[in-house]
Amino acid sequence: MMNEKEKLYRKIPAVDRILMSPRIEKLLNVFTRAMVLKAIHEILDGLRKRIQSWNKPDEFRLDIESILIQVEERVNAMSRPSLKAVINATGIVIHTNLGRSNLADKVLQKLKKIGGGYSNLEYDLEQGERGSRYVHIEGILKELTSAEAAMVVNNNAAAVLVCLETLARGREVIVSRGQLVEIGGSFRVPDVMRRSGARMVEVGTTNKTHLTDYEGVICQETALLLKVHTSNFHIVGFAEEVPLPELAELGKRYGIPVMEDLGSGCLLDLKDYIGIREPTVQEALSQGADLVTFSGDKLLGGPQSGIILGRKDLVDAIKKNQLTRALRIDKLTLLALEETLRLYRDEDNAVKDIPTLKMICQPYRSLKQKAERLIRMTGSCRTLNYSVEAMDGNSKVGGGALPLLELQSRLICLVPGKLSSQFMESWLRTYDPPVITRIEKDKVVIDIRTVLEGELKILSNALRDLALL
Ligand SMILES: *Cc1c(COP(=O)(O)O)cnc(C)c1O
Repeated sequence: MMNEKEKLYRKIPAVDRILMSPRIEKLLNVFTRAMVLKAIHEILDGLRKRIQSWNKPDEFRLDIESILIQVEERVNAMSRPSLKAVINATGIVIHTNLGRSNLADKVLQKLKKIGGGYSNLEYDLEQGERGSRYVHIEGILKELTSAEAAMVVNNNAAAVLVCLETLARGREVIVSRGQLVEIGGSFRVPDVMRRSGARMVEVGTTNKTHLTDYEGVICQETALLLKVHTSNFHIVGFAEEVPLPELAELGKRYGIPVMEDLGSGCLLDLKDYIGIREPTVQEALSQGADLVTFSGDKLLGGPQSGIILGRKDLVDAIKKNQLTRALRIDKLTLLALEETLRLYRDEDNAVKDIPTLKMICQPYRSLKQKAERLIRMTGSCRTLNYSVEAMDGNSKVGGGALPLLELQSRLICLVPGKLSSQFMESWLRTYDPPVITRIEKDKVVIDIRTVLEGELKILSNALRDLALL
């Protein structure tokens, strides 16, 4: 055995010999020497590892030709951008792993037009002097929500952090045990609280918290009453939270600000469209929250950002916090956010133009038509590899919004024939562009809700290619 392994190791060609081949010379005309060398080393290392763990007669291609082909493939793969467009066929509209919200066309046009060049980002054109980047967004946020003041940072996690740090560092924040949420693995209310330097005072139980629980622990040290939207889960059964108006009234009575982390931050009433609603930002403010924070890229449908609205004195204090410099919003984001918010001036247009809202509000019959179009485009190819079935199913909003809501959708399922569902799922995932699906009951499920009109052609081509394998 040992001997055979030795023999295999010796067969591996030397780096110098590989470098001298004409195929590699061609590569060196296009790519840097460092890249080509890295690819060679990776391929050779991979071969050595395979030999090391080799324990049964297995075919090893150690001839220089096959190694050269592998090197070429590796260099080509290395040169391709890492971030690429994918087709979201999961039906999850606000899919955090796939970049959450798509941006509206009007927003993209604006980015193209002025995002790349100089702008009045921090320049007051009337006074001819230094200005603030936040003025571009504050006006429209106040107009849409009737908030007294507004501020934006990098994301909602940053918004919560800077609010807590400004208002409660070294002091106490009261929060219900039923609202100590974790969002997407890295945002946990107790951890953010600790990082901000605020001391968390938990009240109530997992399922029930009463107003008297909050009132019972209020003291000199209390800086803030915090309410957190339990975005991605829902406690059912014997459960009770203190409604915001009551918490706000308690805060007023004791002169303590009340903050709500809304998470998703919906600006319009979704009830008319999908029969169920998230609490809106406007509501939270009118019900007496002194501060609200939410994400720009969840239900709002804009770029990644964190929005802070509320009482002017509190927002002014937050603006002065040095932390905002580290958490500050980038000019491209600011631009995309302003444009997205401008679309909300006309609600009918907002649900048509903002992709996140459009996908959520898509009526069933248009989903069904879209599914039929895809089947028609793919239809004519006969294959034993799989068969196609259309059926009704459910999609999710995602992004920690409306966790219980099942949006009725239309699914295209690939039923395994010669190809297994695992093979088809991973083949589609590595297609160019990648198509992200899921497997349910041994079928590959394409949820048509999140597939854009312009992607149907590509998707049907992918299905034809899969049929011809
Ligand atoms: C999503 C969410 C956050 C984190 O927001 P990011 O924009 O992802 O940083 C914080 N709090 C709640 C309640 C959320 O739903």
